Amino acid sequence: MEQQNVEVKAVERLQRLPYENFQTFELSADNTPWLAEILDEFCDYDKDHSDMVKKQLRFTAKLDIKRDINPRFKEYLLVKADTSLAYYTSCTRCLLPSYEKLKVSFAVCFLNDQFSKLEEYEEEDSLIIENEEYELYYYTKQNIPFKEFIREQVLMYLTPYSIHEKGCKGLCNQCGVNLNLESCKHNK
Ligand SMILES: [Zn+2]
Ligand SMILES: [Zn+2]
Repeated sequence: MEQQNVEVKAVERLQRLPYENFQTFELSADNTPWLAEILDEFCDYDKDHSDMVKKQLRFTAKLDIKRDINPRFKEYLLVKADTSLAYYTSCTRCLLPSYEKLKVSFAVCFLNDQFSKLEEYEEEDSLIIENEEYELYYYTKQNIPFKEFIREQVLMYLTPYSIHEKGCKGLCNQCGVNLNLESCKHNK
């Protein structure tokens, strides 16, 4: 596959994207502002404890992108994505910053939104194209909302109940002190 360092915008015009052959785009929060914005949104912790935030934040996305045309689907876009994310969230036991890493891969295709009005597509949320399964999205007015769908895909996999370290002692259920940081008369 061809390697290319062309930027991908938050919303990209379909015609600007590679035709007939997949091209690989290596994006990261460092070179792509809208990825940095998603990472910033996912980093959800009490900023009072930001001195505890020391590990590296990361959001990279390797995208294989191709648009093509066939008689059945007209003009469509395929995106295969491998993303890697490292972020801080709040520990569900004690609310201290909790470091999480994850990798999420997905494949989506975009069809013209005229298809979304057809009865046969009403119930469809995935499609087989070129012998591979893709989650189904629709584009409107030739716009591909990269930021929106990548955010949506990764959001589903964020760790729902993060614990900041194994054996976190949580908060005292009577006075509320963080038992990792101090003790109280209820927990002797
Ligand atoms: Zn904790
Ligand atoms: Zn207490």
